[in-house]
Amino acid sequence: MPVDLAPGLIRPDLPAPARRGLCTDGGLSRMALARDCGRACQFIAPDYAAAKRAVHGRARAESGDELFFGPFLAMYRARLTPPAPGAQWSGITTRLAEKLLQSGAVSAVLTMAPDPADRWRPMPVIVTRPEAMAACRGMRMGTAPLLALLEPAIAAGHRRLATIGIPCQVHALRHIEHKLGLERLYVIGTPCADNTTTENVHRFLALLDGQPESITYLEFRPDYRVEIRHTDGRVRTIPFLMLPLAKLPADIFPLTCRTCVDYTHALADITVGYMGGQGAQWLIVRNARGQELLELIRPELVLETPGSAGHRAAAVRGFAAQAARAAGGLPLRRMPRFLRPLVAWLQPRLGPRGLEFARARVEMKAVETILQLRRTSPRRLRRMVPAHVWRLVAPYGITPEPRKAPGPPASG
Ligand SMILES: Cc1cc2nc3c(=O)[nH]c(=O)nc-3n(C[C@H](O)[C@H](O)[C@H](O)COP(=O)(O)OP(=O)(O)OC[C@H]3O[C@@H](n4cnc5c(N)ncnc54)[C@H](O)[C@@H]3O)c2cc1C
Ligand code: SF4
Repeated sequence: MPVDLAPGLIRPDLPAPARRGLCTDGGLSRMALARDCGRACQFIAPDYAAAKRAVHGRARAESGDELFFGPFLAMYRARLTPPAPGAQWSGITTRLAEKLLQSGAVSAVLTMAPDPADRWRPMPVIVTRPEAMAACRGMRMGTAPLLALLEPAIAAGHRRLATIGIPCQVHALRHIEHKLGLERLYVIGTPCADNTTTENVHRFLALLDGQPESITYLEFRPDYRVEIRHTDGRVRTIPFLMLPLAKLPADIFPLTCRTCVDYTHALADITVGYMGGQGAQWLIVRNARGQELLELIRPELVLETPGSAGHRAAAVRGFAAQAARAAGGLPLRRMPRFLRPLVAWLQPRLGPRGLEFARARVEMKAVETILQLRRTSPRRLRRMVPAHVWRLVAPYGITPEPRKAPGPPASG
């Protein structure tokens, strides 16, 4: 039975998944269209270039920032004014969806709310009233079957929809979009990397703080610090270098997330993140529909040209060396404890910042993907790694072995 959690906030009953192998349970395997999984899944035989051509009219450019971030019309450093209470950053994502509902451009938004039984568990919901969007604010690590909401939403008569989701969900959505009979679809995306299960998030929170049960907010900030907030208003920031990473299980991140090549959500109409925002949000407007979304809230935004500072090469080389050790089963080389506070102080001042930080993270993910696949599933390299990812890692001496060179369809 569907549950009305609040007026306009519905949790439908969803079928069980039919999970196989590498799967983040984006929801397609729970749909009548489950037979499309083989072609829609980014971990089986993705065709990134064809998907981008279908969505944006073209593949990514082979140079410049599109090589890193995917096709775009414009990029901004952005802030919603005033910021929305309870939002992960300033609340641009939620505001876009509220405006779509208010203006009647859509009759329902498919997204995640916190599970009432566990605020860290994402729970798929259908939102039909703008005021109900506020309950969805904030980021909860984890995956949940967003696409399984499509069928109940369509059955309830919704033909104009918006989705808010992460890249692996949208990769599959774009593949089935034309089969859904929708009048209109807006795809609002966030970047995503290093995702994990809700159970692992709880383990991580327990290592970070003596009162994990009162933590309401977690973010990996681009100033190299993790921020946590508590129910009583306390805020703590912890430098990345001081995180208790050695105490985490080696498999804290599933293989899917260690081999995911769409960090910046290249198939969304608009990507709303923070990585290139130097403390503000980072908007990537990818196509005309994304532009339409931006215009809905432009008067409420402070928009600036994104900055870029520092040099990423040394940081990415260091990461690649560590990733190679990890992939080879060797222990990580930890920085001596006494040096960590100093380096943690220097990192946000001298390390890559703004767009350079975002480029560094994208390159690191590309390196990790290839090293992980080489170790765990070398036969997947050819199908799963598109040509642009090989271009990203080439400056670090990582090149395809002849047999595993990229070829169709995983191009673009
Ligand atoms: C797992 C995960 C990892 C992320 N990693 C990065 C990153 O490395 N770099 C970066 O720039 N940005 C990342 N983001 C995005 C970032 O955390 C913010 O969500 C984004 O900047 C939007 O902020 P906001 O204030 O506009 O969002 P809000 O207005 O607070 O809205 C957040 C929206 O995200 C949805 N949401 C929350 N959790 C999930 C989930 N698990 N799955 C699907 N949708 C969800 C909510 O339903 C809500 O609609 C990540 C997001 C997620 C979910
Ligand atoms: S890192 Fe990639 S595979 Fe993992 S949840 Fe995020 S988008 Fe999906």
